[in-house]
Amino acid sequence: DEKILQVNNLQVSFKTYGGEVEAVRGVNFDLYKGETLAIVGESGCGKSVTSNAIMGLIPEPAGRIKNGSILFKGKALTKLSKSELRKIQGIDISMIFQDPMTALNPTLTIGEQLTEGLRTHKKIGKHEAKLKAIEMLNLVGIPNPIERLKQYPHQFSGGMRQRIVIAIALICDPELLIADEPTTALDVTIQAQILELFEEIQRKTDISIILITHDLGVVAKIADRIAVMYAGKIVEIGDKREIFYTPQHPYTQGLLNSVPRLDLMEEELQPIDGTPPDLFAPPTGCPFTARCKFAMEVCDHVYPYTSKLSDAHAVDCWLQDERAKVLQVQK
Ligand code: SF4
Ligand code: MG
Repeated sequence: DEKILQVNNLQVSFKTYGGEVEAVRGVNFDLYKGETLAIVGESGCGKSVTSNAIMGLIPEPAGRIKNGSILFKGKALTKLSKSELRKIQGIDISMIFQDPMTALNPTLTIGEQLTEGLRTHKKIGKHEAKLKAIEMLNLVGIPNPIERLKQYPHQFSGGMRQRIVIAIALICDPELLIADEPTTALDVTIQAQILELFEEIQRKTDISIILITHDLGVVAKIADRIAVMYAGKIVEIGDKREIFYTPQHPYTQGLLNSVPRLDLMEEELQPIDGTPPDLFAPPTGCPFTARCKFAMEVCDHVYPYTSKLSDAHAVDCWLQDERAKVLQVQK
């Protein structure tokens, strides 16, 4: 399969009054053409920072990519000039944020906002751009597109506005779409409709999608693969089925246990006790140690190596690594 994105040892930090926060601490993953990779984890785990780094949205000078590389179709984004980046980020790589209201400009018509990217970046003429805008509104399921193009954001419902945001993100035919909590601000019925829209877009195009979410229900519906982030690291990655049915990292197991299941309404939820470590001074060992009921002495001192469990499934946990015993004895 063709790799569209390769993220290698990505490290991102932010300077704050309290010191430097190590938000992303060596993240590695590949993204293939046509697949949806979900990045899941609690807030502050580094999932949004990872996607913002890919989009070139790390605010300098407070934030910086300290180390690592991001290759988009083999090109190192971290090495391109500002003008080369502008041709990729926002066009070939497009992003949808959580809140559809702030993503749209209240003073411009939907038609103006849809065609802007086509006209400025792709130098497409007015008439052709309008035809493409109508095609996109059809794709995202907005009725009467010709009349709707002349209207302003406030004339649409929340769900419709999120469809428009998705249409704007897709109109320049990006190869990679990053969706950061795309359904979180919407009510449950609209959420389901937007997720169906994502599935439909995937069927009709071979776009690759990175989906950032804390909602495992969303993941279950549209992801092909899942990366679980904790304290700035990907602690487990695998096919959706492997992660849901045979999770190996105690944190992943805890996350899955904390999902409310309709068939288990009577049972108590099992949230994971405790909080993630402070990333001003990240632990040298496994960051989950303080919350992990399987923690061994080695976990406190050495970050686990990545154990490969299958072609797609890998986990950073000493429980999967024979060498833990040797290190334990040496203590
Ligand atoms: Fe728990 Fe140790 Fe595995 Fe970390 S490495 S998740 S502390 S068993
Ligand atoms: Mg797909």
